[in-house]
Amino acid sequence: MMQLRPELMKYVRKVEPYVPGEQPQNKVVKLNTNENPYPPAPQVEKALRETDTERMRLYPDPAAAQLSKALAKYYQVGEDQVFVGVGSDDVLSMCFLTFFNSDRPILFPDVTYSFYKVWAGLYRIPYECPRLDEEFRLVKEDYYKENGGVIFPNPNAPTAIYEDLDFVEDIVSHNRDVVVIVDEAYVDFAGKSAISLTEKYDNLLVVQTFSKSRSMAGMRIGFCIGSPALIRCLNDVKFSFNSYTMNQAALECGAAAVEAEEYFRETVQKIVDTREWAKEELKRLGFEFTDSKTNFIFARHPAHDAKELFEMLKKKQIYVRYFEGGRTSQYLRITIGTREEMEQLFSALEEYEKERGR
Ligand SMILES: *Cc1c(COP(=O)(O)O)cnc(C)c1O
Repeated sequence: MMQLRPELMKYVRKVEPYVPGEQPQNKVVKLNTNENPYPPAPQVEKALRETDTERMRLYPDPAAAQLSKALAKYYQVGEDQVFVGVGSDDVLSMCFLTFFNSDRPILFPDVTYSFYKVWAGLYRIPYECPRLDEEFRLVKEDYYKENGGVIFPNPNAPTAIYEDLDFVEDIVSHNRDVVVIVDEAYVDFAGKSAISLTEKYDNLLVVQTFSKSRSMAGMRIGFCIGSPALIRCLNDVKFSFNSYTMNQAALECGAAAVEAEEYFRETVQKIVDTREWAKEELKRLGFEFTDSKTNFIFARHPAHDAKELFEMLKKKQIYVRYFEGGRTSQYLRITIGTREEMEQLFSALEEYEKERGR
C-alpha cells in the first residue's frame, strides 16, 4: 500500500480504526453484524414513499425535532432529554468527545464493543479496561475507583449478557461526579432499560439504536436520553461539528418507526423466540454459550476451533462473526436470523460434525 512520505506523515492524526463486520454484496446467510432479519415497519416504507423530494433542496431541521419528539413521547421524557445522531456510533462518538475530557482514565470492560477503544484513541482519552470475570460478567466493584467516566453496554457485546437495573444503578451511584454511559444497543431483546434511572441521576446517559430492534441499520439512526443539562452539552459539541447530522428521510422514517409500536413488539418477540429455540439447537450440537439476552449468541464448541468453524461456514456462504485473539478467540458471535436462516446454519454445522466424525 502507498505510504505517506514521513515528512508529511508527521502531522497526520494516527488512529487504529474500527473494523466493521463484512458486508458481502452477494446473497449469503448473513449472521455476522447483528442486523434484524425482518424489514422495517410498513409505516417506515410509507413514510419513505411519501418523502417530499422538493424538500431535499432545503437543509433538514438542525434540532431534528420530529424524531426527538416521537422518542420523547414514546419514552415519556422531555424533548430536551433526547439527542439523536447518525446511528448510535455517531451519538457515542459525540458523547466521548463531550464528556470524557479528564486526565483520569475512563473505564470500560476488557471484552466489549471494540469501538470504545477506537474513540478513546482518536480523542486521546486515557482508558483502563477492568477484566470481566471468568463467566464474562462485569464486576461492579471494578468501577468504584476514581475515573474520568464509565461506559459499558447492557446487554454487553459480544458476550450477550444482561445485568439488571440494580446492577446498573449501583455503578451509576458510585460515580456521581463523572458521566456514566450505558450503551443499550440490544436492550429491546433483554429487559428493562436504564432510561427510567435518568430521572434520578443527572450523570447517566442511555444510548440506543434503530439498527437492531427496529430493523434500520441502513438508515443510520441512534439516540440517547439523559438530563437536559447533559443533552445541552452534547448539542453544543454537535453544533460545533456538524449542525445537520440527520437527513430529512431519516427524520421522517425514524419518527414513523417509533410510532409503529405493534410491529416493533411483534418482530422483537419473533427474534427472541428464534433465539431461545436456537439455544436448544446449539446445545444439541455440543456448543457452550452465555445466557444471551440479545439478538445474537456468543458460542464456542469445546471440540472445534472457532476460526476453523468460521472459515467452514463462510465457504458455505454462511457469515458469522469471529474476533481473533484474546479471551474471545474460541467464540463465534452468531446473529439470530430467521428460523430458515438458522436452520441452514445448523445443517451446515451438523454436516461438519458428521464429516469430522468419520
Ligand atoms: C451495533 C452497536 C452499536 C452501533 O449501532 P449503530 O448502527 O451505529 O446505531 C453500538 N453499540 C453496540 C454495543 C452495538 O452492538
